[in-house]
Order: sequence, then C-alpha cells, then structure tokens
Amino acid sequence: MSGRVFLVGAGPGDPGLMTVRAVELIAAADVVLFDKLIPESALVGARADAELIDVGKIGGGRQVPQDVTTALVLEHALAGKQVVRLKGGDPFVFGRGGEEALACVAAGVPFEVVPAVTSGIAAPAYAGIPVTQRGITSAVAFVTGHEDPDKPETLIDWPALARFPGTLCFYMGIRTLDRIAEQLVAGGRPAGEPVAVVMRGTYGDQRSVRGTLADIATVVREAGIGAPAITVVGGVAALHDELSWLEEARPLGGRTVAVTRARAQASGIAATLRSLGASVVEAPAIRIQPLEAELPALAHYDLVVVTSVNAVQQLFTHVRDARELAGATVAAIGPGTVAELRRHGIEPDVVPERSISEAVLEVLTERGPWSRVLIPRAEEAREVLPEGLRAQGAHVDVLPLYRTVAEPLDPAAREAALGADYLCFTSASSVTFFHEAAGTLAGPRLVTIGPVTSDAVRALGFAPHVEATQHDPDGLVAALVADARAS
Ligand code: SAH
Repeated sequence: MSGRVFLVGAGPGDPGLMTVRAVELIAAADVVLFDKLIPESALVGARADAELIDVGKIGGGRQVPQDVTTALVLEHALAGKQVVRLKGGDPFVFGRGGEEALACVAAGVPFEVVPAVTSGIAAPAYAGIPVTQRGITSAVAFVTGHEDPDKPETLIDWPALARFPGTLCFYMGIRTLDRIAEQLVAGGRPAGEPVAVVMRGTYGDQRSVRGTLADIATVVREAGIGAPAITVVGGVAALHDELSWLEEARPLGGRTVAVTRARAQASGIAATLRSLGASVVEAPAIRIQPLEAELPALAHYDLVVVTSVNAVQQLFTHVRDARELAGATVAAIGPGTVAELRRHGIEPDVVPERSISEAVLEVLTERGPWSRVLIPRAEEAREVLPEGLRAQGAHVDVLPLYRTVAEPLDPAAREAALGADYLCFTSASSVTFFHEAAGTLAGPRLVTIGPVTSDAVRALGFAPHVEATQHDPDGLVAALVADARAS
C-alpha cells in the first residue's frame, strides 16, 4: 500500500513559528525531503532512523529540477513510506506545493497539506510592518519578483499591479528590485511611496532597510541586503521605523551562543536563548550517568540537602512515595532544584538565597543543629557542605547518585561552538570536559554560571568574560544579555 505525502510548511525561519502539526509530522515521518530555507532546528525532532534528504543539495548544490524532487517524493510514498515534504514558509505560497500535490493526484498517492506562516507576512511583521492597517490599506497582494519585469513574456500585468489599491509584498524580488520599482512608478505609484526590504526575516540575523520606490534599489545595494528577502511597498512600510519591536525584544538577535550542558538539560536554556533572538549551538560536553545506589531509610534523617536538578531526578528514581521524605527538613539549592522538587510533590523547607556551598552552609548552620544529614548528589561534588556540617557534630551521609561523564564532541559541533559569539558553561565539569574534547576555549566570549565554574576556566589558562551573579540558568542568560547589550 502506498504511504502518504504531507506537504508541510516549516514557517519563515524562527523555529517558534512552526505549527504544532508540522512538528508532530516531522517527528513521525519515515522520510523528510527538505528545502534550503527551513528553520535551523526544524529537523531535530525527526526520528533517529528517519531518512532526511536535503533536496537543495542533490545535484551538487545546484537547484534541483522540480521533476526530480517530485519523483523522489512519489518514489518514497509508493514504497509505503510516510513522507514529509518540508518547505520554507507556506507550501502553497510560491512553494510549488500545488505542483507536487497534482503529481500525487496523478500517481494516486494520498496527500495532506499543512499550511504555515508565510514569509510575506511574517518577515514584515518582525520588522514592525503590519501588511494591512486600518486607515492606510485594506488590501494586500503577494507577488513574485522572480520574473524579470522587462521581459515581454512576464506573466504579471505591471500597469494593473501598479494600480492595485493596497500593500504589495514581493517574494524573490531582490535581483529585480530596481526594475520592479521602475515599473511601479511608470504605472503611476508615487516615487516617494514607502518601501521596506526585510532579509532573512524572523531568523536571528534578520536585517531590514527602509526607503522609497525612488531610492530603495540603491539603499538595498549599499546595505548589502540579499536573498532571501521580502519587499513591502505601501504606506504600511513606513511603520517600520515606529514599530520596530525586535531589537528590544530580541537583545541576542544576530548572536550565536553555544551551550555545553548535557543534552537532556540544554533544551530549557536553549529555548530561552532562542526566544531572545540568539542562534543556539548545542555542543553538549557532558552526560549524566546514573550510579548504582542503595537508598538508606529516609526516616532516619532530619535534614536532606539536594543540590541539583539531577540529584532530584536521580533521587526520585529510588523514592516511590514522596511521603518517605515527610519527616526530614528538605533543603534545596537553586531555583531549578526547587522547581524539580515541586514537580515531585515536595515543597522545600529551606532555600538558601545564594547557591554557593559556603553560603548554603551558613544558612543551614543558622537553622541547625542537625543530627543526621543525607546529601544525595553527584559523585565528584565539592566537600564544603558535608565537611562543614560534620564539623558541627552532624552525622552526614553523602550518597553519590550519578556522575557526569564526557560526551563526545563531533567536529562540526566543536567548530560551531568555538566559532560562536558566546560559549556558556553551567558547571565546572562541563568546562573541563569541553576543553578536553575541543582542545581549547579560545574564540568566543566565555560565560559562566558562577565563581566555581569560573575557577575551572581559569585553571585551564583562560579568563571568563561574563560571570552570572545569580547562579542558575536564568542568571546566566541575564548576564549574557547584559554583556550583549553593552557591546
Ligand atoms: N513558501 C515560501 C516562499 C518561497 S519562495 C513562503 O511562504 O514564505 C522563496 C522566497 O521567499 C525568497 O526568495 C524570499 O523572497 C522569501 N522568503 C522566504 N523566507 C524568507 C525569510 N525568512 N525572510 C525574507 N524572505 C523570505
């Protein structure tokens, strides 16, 4: 039986603008055939055994003829595969999705269409331009600029288009921009009509310029603006200057940030960085390896100190029932740890404001004395806390539940991480392991979560550029943003 073809739009570039349906279908697909212009992380959710085919690359990087692509799509579908045909923007807006759909019909292959956010609306929106606006324009036309307006065989009626009473959004119109502008003026649009051009709209490195029909071609050339770009012609283009919200909201726009956390933990920080406009490179240097452990009876302890999200997660692979912790005072270090405990139904009793062991010890000393203390944690943690508590007469059991081990770094991830603007470390072990795998920390600005991690950087002969004052992922991101704003 034939499989099914899904003609899916991947949106204009910002991964957050992909539809839920697109993400679901990519995760389920046997085969994904994708174009050049799709969001960077669009394929991360694909199955490990899925076949991912870069249609932009077949044929040595040249544009692949449409019939070759269509034939590939049908071939996989007829072999019984679930095929996602992933296109930039919307599949039916200058995406040749209609042609592929017709080919499916002709071959008797069932297909579905998944519409998406098109760049002709999204790129202007990210540049502060609503394509319609009460009082300015109540119509919008999407036009291809692919055809040379001077050629007699152009399919566009330029005089009619010039008279169109509304906004014009040109796709693929950078190469022909000067002639487009000329044709519109020749057809009667005022030479002073506002025009904006948005390059790589919604991507982290979006750029946009503003001009008029008379000068936009020059403005674009001088600014070095190139494809992919959307050209917006009409009164709304002038709102670009007033409504540009992106820089304020996306302080990391145009910056690349490498994250070295363990893969399982990186997604939160990566998502935050992306929402601030950064392109994120995931270069996990460490992995959490659970250790065999025998959990002692928790009822024996009057204090349980959990120092990390990992410790909570590992602890609860042993604890079946949160009530086992009912008798003990629970201290949690760091907001992530607190949140993770809450997920397991435990409200911590003590949450020191600062996450450094010395500060934690001080707070616990004030709340003491303690007789029996349990510290479930990583194998290789610092001894400040157990030793300090023992010095006060407590019986302290340290229970190693996991160790962090090196994660191999592939050459592409190494290169991307060292070529990033920022390289972030959330623990001393990620510093050590990343350095071991990459051979250096030279290149990016080095960002650490706190003094202990900074010391690990210095121990290798490098100087941290940014150190978080609040020692958790949010604090690290805040410090990074402050640095980016200042430079
Ligand atoms: N189906 C796509 C359009 C494909 S045609 C969509 O709905 O968006 C390719 C053209 O789309 C490019 O030449 C450019 O004009 C436009 N385009 C695609 N992505 C873009 C982006 N992120 N920013 C600006 N223009 C983009």
